[in-house]
Amino acid sequence: MTADREAVALFRELTGSAPFGMWSAPGRVNLIGEHTDYNEGFVLPFAIERRTYAAVGIRDDGRIRVVSSLDPRAPVEAALSDLPALFPDRRDEIAEWARYPLGIAWALLTSTSADAQAVSGVDIALASDVPVGAGLSSSAAIEGAIASALNDIWGLGLRRVALAHAGNVAENTAVGAPTGVMDQMASMLGERDAAIFLDCRSLDASVVELGLARAGLELVIVDTRVQHAHSTGGYGDRRAACERGAQLLGVPALRDLTIADLPRAQLLLDDVTYRRVRHVITEDARVQETVRTLQERGPRAIGPLLDASHASMRDDFEISVPELDLAVDTARAAGAVGARMTGGGFGGSALALVDHALVPTVSAAVEAAFLAAGFATPHVFTVRPSEGAHRDG
Ligand code: ADP
Ligand code: MG
Repeated sequence: MTADREAVALFRELTGSAPFGMWSAPGRVNLIGEHTDYNEGFVLPFAIERRTYAAVGIRDDGRIRVVSSLDPRAPVEAALSDLPALFPDRRDEIAEWARYPLGIAWALLTSTSADAQAVSGVDIALASDVPVGAGLSSSAAIEGAIASALNDIWGLGLRRVALAHAGNVAENTAVGAPTGVMDQMASMLGERDAAIFLDCRSLDASVVELGLARAGLELVIVDTRVQHAHSTGGYGDRRAACERGAQLLGVPALRDLTIADLPRAQLLLDDVTYRRVRHVITEDARVQETVRTLQERGPRAIGPLLDASHASMRDDFEISVPELDLAVDTARAAGAVGARMTGGGFGGSALALVDHALVPTVSAAVEAAFLAAGFATPHVFTVRPSEGAHRDG
């Protein structure tokens, strides 16, 4: 069953009736620009055709009830007027997954003048074909679907950028995952065969045509199935290193530095902090170069930038894992135009830019290499840059 039908079926199971409406938002893949978002720099993600669907009905009792196909027997319910007391202090009382939908409702209510006593209650059934924890941002997809639905149902009139921001507030404060705003912006603003060039300081976003279809290129994802955990460990550590670097170099964020600052950074910083900073500075430059290259020379010319991005994450930022390195190296050896890990790191997925005719060759080579290395079988599939969040019906 497709995810949209699954959401409707689940809604019927929950409520015994048909939903009032359906909203959806996509996962995303970051073409280039990793760990630059919280450094107020540049990213270039695109929305993918895999989406999370929210079938939504209206209740007259001011309560919110959510259920997900991931755990269909365990709906979670709360009074909308209780949300300010639950987030963030008592969030442990709510099942982890439900902190995303309830957190969005909370973020929208607290960031607007909407009255939690006056807005209508909602029943929400969720189903998705975005794999969870694979680096494709199932979290932004769930946030985007619900933010879009509540914005319409509650008549908040928020624009897409504001909805993306609310999703990020929910993820940071209600869920407690210290992530940047890139995922939500891609999920809200995506367009077909295009990426979103985002300045994470000003939140200025522009659509950059990818032109993959015309160039006969595909984007192949290798989901290594190595799980990452955003709220713990390496991610927070990298973020802290960036903050430390910016502070020691006397700038508000690493975004304020360029390649010309690297010699000074090397003098002032310890080796590890220096390499973390160097990744961010060079990655910001690569994102801008990628946008220029796409506009002037087309997608086939960005391969070396993707490769350089991977090397920087592997060697300077140290967020790759052997499975990601093998996926990238094998894809390239099998003829990919360029390849890199994508997402926060420590697992998740790699991305390869591949000629349409070579997709089976590259896929088979990666699968064979994983088998030979004794790694779990990866999921290899293509993604199409697609439309952002919208109402489906
Ligand atoms: P990613 O965004 O890379 O997939 P995250 O750790 O950021 O990984 O977000 C995954 C979490 O988001 C899941 O563990 C779950 O709590 C929540 N989530 C995402 N999609 C759904 C869904 N369809 N139903 C319920 N929870 C979901
Ligand atoms: Mg996420």
